[in-house]
Amino acid sequence: MQNLLHNLNPEQLAAVTLPAQSALILAGAGSGKTRVLTTRIAWLIQTQQVSPAGIMAVTFTNKAAKEMLARLSAMLPMSTRGMWVGTFHGLCNRLLRTHYRDAALPQTFQILDSQDQLSVIKRLLKANNIDDEKYPPKTLMYFINNAKDQGLRAHQVEAHDPIERKLVELYEIYDLQCQREGVVDFAELLLRSYELLARNQPLREHYQQRFRHILVDEFQDTNDLQYNWLKLLAGHNVVGGGALFAVGDDDQSIYAFRGANVGNMAAFEREFRVQNLIKLEQNYRSHGHILDSANMLISNNSKRLGKNLRTDAGHGEPVRIYEASSDLEEAQWIIEEAKSLMAEGSARRDIAILYRSNAQSRVIEQKLFAAGLPYIVYGGQRYFQRAEVKHVIAYLQLMDNPHNDSAFLRVVNFPTRGIGSRSIEQLQAAAGQQGISLYAAVPHVAGKAGSSLANFVRLIEGARFETTQLPLPEMVRVVLEASGLLAHYQGEKDGTDRVENVEQMVSAATHFVQEEGFGQNAPAHLGPRAQAQSGAPIVSEDGIEIFDADAPLPTVMSPLSAFLSHASLEAGDAQAQAGQDALQLMTVHSAKGLEFDAVFITGLEEGLFPHESSAREMDGVDEERRLMYVAITRAKKRLYMSFTQTRMLHGQTRYNMKSRFFDELPEEALKWLSPRVQSHWSGNKKSAWDEPVFAGGSDNKIAHQIAQKASSGPGWRIGESVAHAKFGEGVIVNLEGSGSNARAQINFGRAGVKVLDLSVAKLDRV
Ligand code: ATP
Ligand code: MG
Repeated sequence: MQNLLHNLNPEQLAAVTLPAQSALILAGAGSGKTRVLTTRIAWLIQTQQVSPAGIMAVTFTNKAAKEMLARLSAMLPMSTRGMWVGTFHGLCNRLLRTHYRDAALPQTFQILDSQDQLSVIKRLLKANNIDDEKYPPKTLMYFINNAKDQGLRAHQVEAHDPIERKLVELYEIYDLQCQREGVVDFAELLLRSYELLARNQPLREHYQQRFRHILVDEFQDTNDLQYNWLKLLAGHNVVGGGALFAVGDDDQSIYAFRGANVGNMAAFEREFRVQNLIKLEQNYRSHGHILDSANMLISNNSKRLGKNLRTDAGHGEPVRIYEASSDLEEAQWIIEEAKSLMAEGSARRDIAILYRSNAQSRVIEQKLFAAGLPYIVYGGQRYFQRAEVKHVIAYLQLMDNPHNDSAFLRVVNFPTRGIGSRSIEQLQAAAGQQGISLYAAVPHVAGKAGSSLANFVRLIEGARFETTQLPLPEMVRVVLEASGLLAHYQGEKDGTDRVENVEQMVSAATHFVQEEGFGQNAPAHLGPRAQAQSGAPIVSEDGIEIFDADAPLPTVMSPLSAFLSHASLEAGDAQAQAGQDALQLMTVHSAKGLEFDAVFITGLEEGLFPHESSAREMDGVDEERRLMYVAITRAKKRLYMSFTQTRMLHGQTRYNMKSRFFDELPEEALKWLSPRVQSHWSGNKKSAWDEPVFAGGSDNKIAHQIAQKASSGPGWRIGESVAHAKFGEGVIVNLEGSGSNARAQINFGRAGVKVLDLSVAKLDRV
């Protein structure tokens, strides 16, 4: 038997071996929280305090869940199959699949991702003749999700004015429509599974008895509904309820915008009467300069629970900071630095490039591509969300659950088969009248429209018939052919990528059945009942109908249903490029919990990071600072930060000040790099940097030294510092026109960027 405990420090050891009671481990980044959580699971099992089936572990991402299972399998000599390890969504999906009837769902219910959800909402607004200017689809979507995240059904939401009353009414209609189609959105997964446990006492008691230990990572980011779900499962007010073991870091709470409530930590401590509160203060991840930077930055936040981090590792390399003239040049610099790291022996996968907004990745990708460097973008345009892949998925969804109207509408006329909008309107009217799905309403449409729709239904039925006995990957292949999708993309000019992407679905299906243990030849369609061939459900000792006795998905879902859930719940990007050694690109949000040898934090500019939206929120800048803290603490050995003077974002050129966060870092940990690449201003004007710009200083005044003379104005130069009576000091970032038409674009820092008419504006040289 392995000694699981010998690599732990005394506090970690204490945490891992706590008695079977609820506990809170509160500790900073890189202090081993996740390691403690995983080791505790192994220790509980190894010391026979619980069997794998008595464990539930909640992680923040699917990737983290996979890693945890892999580590546990390595630590333990037995199968980890009975254990429930996953995200809140993944676990709720599993619960609902297992008890779909009690949850009043069809066995083949399908999951709407946010894109699908928005299209359901748009359709609903249209069908009900609602003005989508007055009720924008996104507003309604936010309203519904927000209510669900708080555990509220439409009839429980208090409406204060006519607009809200309408929103509530639409929420109600939306839920009815989803129910009719057999689809559930992300928030519904949680709410439905919460209601299932809340209302069904035997079922609740069954799981309370079963899960003796519930362990939650990243607890600071749970929302109210998730916390209440955990409370139910752990039976916090039930004698003999399970133990909830929560690990978290208030300084890394970065999902307030999605309803996460860091107050859940205090609520947990109080409501579970937590006796065991352990703090971990030794950081094992980062070198000294990196950790000092993180500590000093976060000390600028108020309302912290208070904890420290120290490291035994030396100072290591200083944090390197680079000011670029443009986003293109920033990307180029990253590539140069990454190349030299690789030349020193770093693997590409140990280098991460982080950004605040997804939109920033485009320029970096462009440069990486040009440089021939392989990279993976996490959470950007997700593989399973690409339009062409979504089309394949829609066909598969219809074969599993033809009543999914979104799937129906997506492909009924794609590739085109002469079904126009008039036919669809007729069909929608028929479906509306009868209160049935579009698929079911097809026989009610007469004439030419009716016959082309009937052809489509025959296509789906035919493909289903043809694939009844086929394993999933082969089924996908048949669907690609029968639907006409493959031929369509092959015939498209520049369709190569799309052909590759749809064909990739066959490999995605192959990987999936292998990983989930379905067996190579298990027919894609067959659900658990058919597989058991008895038609009788498995019943546990306490009379609860279950399929999950000890194995994962295969017993609760057909391979097809499981694959479709997976496509909605997972990004799929990593899988599509499995095994590649590639640079890792992601937003700071998706980097949570991860670590890399080298990290680049890019776009550190006012308005971008901290993001401009933070100015509107209470504690907005504090949340941005926590995000920055997360970003810094991902780095083990090398940390780079960059900002640019100009950036194209959403089609606009922005002139940014460097982020205020630079003023919150310890000077002695930093090294300001002098620009060395020729920079490009707008147009073809070139400028050369002639001396280090920020050598040793972090003052907030941009002091460019740009040799380029402006083409216009009485001696004004781009880069020159000026003062204006109203806007204060600023820097000329662009000049245009001449004589009485001469205008200057000036960055006045906090007062923003202004375009001033030089013949009118009174400017002084500074
Ligand atoms: P985060 O807050 O970012 O999620 P964390 O607190 O979960 O961080 P871990 O990811 O568990 O931290 O650990 C950080 C790193 O330190 C990992 O590489 C882990 O293997 C290592 N580590 C943790 N504890 C020890 C230890 N006692 N000895 C050596 N290495 C350790
Ligand atoms: Mg962690």
